[in-house]
This record gives sequence, C-alpha cells and structure tokens, in this order.
Amino acid sequence: MTRRTALEPVTGPVVDRDAERRTRPELFDELLQDPATRLLALWRGRTLARDAALDLISPDRQTTALIRVYLGRTVVGDVPVIAVTLTDAAAAELEPDESRWVSLREAGATFGETDYALFTEAVAIANWHESHTHCPRCGTPTVVEQGGWVRRCFVDGKEVFPRTDPAIIVRVLDDTDRILLGSNAMWENNRWSILAGFVEPGESFEAAVLREVHEEAGVVCTSPRYLGSQPWPFPASVMIGFEARAVAQGEVPTRPDGQEILAVRWFSRDELWAERDDLKLPMSLSIAHAIITDWYGGPLDEPPRPRQTTA
Ligand SMILES: [Zn+2]
Repeated sequence: MTRRTALEPVTGPVVDRDAERRTRPELFDELLQDPATRLLALWRGRTLARDAALDLISPDRQTTALIRVYLGRTVVGDVPVIAVTLTDAAAAELEPDESRWVSLREAGATFGETDYALFTEAVAIANWHESHTHCPRCGTPTVVEQGGWVRRCFVDGKEVFPRTDPAIIVRVLDDTDRILLGSNAMWENNRWSILAGFVEPGESFEAAVLREVHEEAGVVCTSPRYLGSQPWPFPASVMIGFEARAVAQGEVPTRPDGQEILAVRWFSRDELWAERDDLKLPMSLSIAHAIITDWYGGPLDEPPRPRQTTA
C-alpha cells in the first residue's frame, strides 16, 4: 500500500531531493548529459501518465521548457528527475492526446508512492514559480537559480525562496467520542468534513487549531494533538492534522460562523453509518478522509466496528 497521508507510518523518503547539488553552476548540463536522467513534463498542473504510472521522458525529447526544476533522485533506482513546465504548444507537440495528461487528484488514485511524491513536488514548486515571477521589493522580473529552488532579483540582489502556506485541519471530539463536522458554504449540499483553516502570521499550529474551531463552530476545545500532515499544492498548502477535545461536557452547543461554515454537527459513528447515503465525505486521498477514517476505526463503507468501552 502506498503512503498517501501522514497517518500511516513514515518509513523513509522516496525521493532524495539532493539539495546540495542544486548549487552547482552546470547542474542542468550535467544532468542532461546523464543518460539516467528523466524529465517530468508539466502542463497546466498535469503530467503524462501511462499504465497508472508517471510517463517520464528522456532528455533527448526535451522541448522548450518555461521553467526547469531539479526534483532530486528517486531512492529506488537512483533516477535524477527534472520537472519541466511546458507551454500549450510544447505540450501539444509532446503529446497531443489530452487524456494522457492527468491531474494530481487523478494520479492520487493510481500512482505508486514515488511517482506520486515526484508529481506532488513538481506541482507545488511549479505553482510557486507561477505566482512569484517578480521581486517583492522592487517589482523587477526575477531569474531562476539553484536548480529551480531560488529566484533572484538582479537589481537589488534579493533572493526569493519557495514558500508553503500551512493550514491546520482538526478532528474535534466530545466527551462521548462524537466527531464535529462542518459544511462549507462553497461546497455542494450535504458535504461534510472536519474543520480547517490557514495558520495566521505569528501563530502556532496549536493556537490556530483552537482559534479556527472557535471561529467556525463556536466550540471551545483544548489539548491539540498532532496526527500527521499532507502536502496540498492547491495551490500552495500543507495540511497539518490535529485532534482536539471540546472543553464542555455533555451536549456541546455549536454556532457555525454563517459565512465560511453554514452548518456544524456532532456525529457518532453509528450516525455516520446510518446517514451514509445522504452524506458526502472527503475524497479518499485527503488527510481529512484519513483522519475521519482513523476515528471511525475502519473503512467508511463498512459498519462501525464494535468498540471497547473505556471507563
Ligand atoms: Zn528587486
């Protein structure tokens, strides 16, 4: 089974990002002369797939790249991989059949762990390049350096590094072990998930958990406990998963914020099962799904397993 979210044990990296090598001035010349090197083509957030795997291409098929990023070397096979972002014309020339270009969400269901990690890394860094083309200090277009991991302004020398926006996602439980789910205003009717929100400047993850739950659901909770994380490059986040407990005992009242969250509700495992035909829950590759499933104690398409009661 391939690791999709961080609730599964971490056994080791599948891609060696090989950061030390990024600083070599002739990095791309060296890599492109290495017959082992492969290119990961990116076009509008999609890549080429074949037989449920990345369809990496040989450097001699290289077309004009907008941006090149050295992703590192695969741990299995020791293959150096360069992400290349392509124009519409270059992508059409490389592979005109649009059905062979898959999105990260599509790939998540089929790709193996290494391929999924490479594709996620490529999409995340490409998204950053796309939205950080100019110097934040003086507005001059910046140039790409260090294997695609830095952009530099040649007017004032400012270096801009890739950034990731942290967002917390939290499973809140009450004293009977029910889970708090919310329904977002931007979602289709009756879609529910655990609460989430961006970490604000100057805020710890734990403080963001307590703030978001209070803002979105009107529930005071305590003791955030880290569960795991998942890169979420839509466009630039990492989701940091927590569990927290409602402070109040018994039937804890909820108050949705009415803007971002239209409804919040406590669900027992039996209720989640009984209402399964009406409820839409997070897609299976998301950390939200993993956190809910972990609480449920088994697959969501099976009845809840009998639980040992604790005193
Ligand atoms: Zn500048």
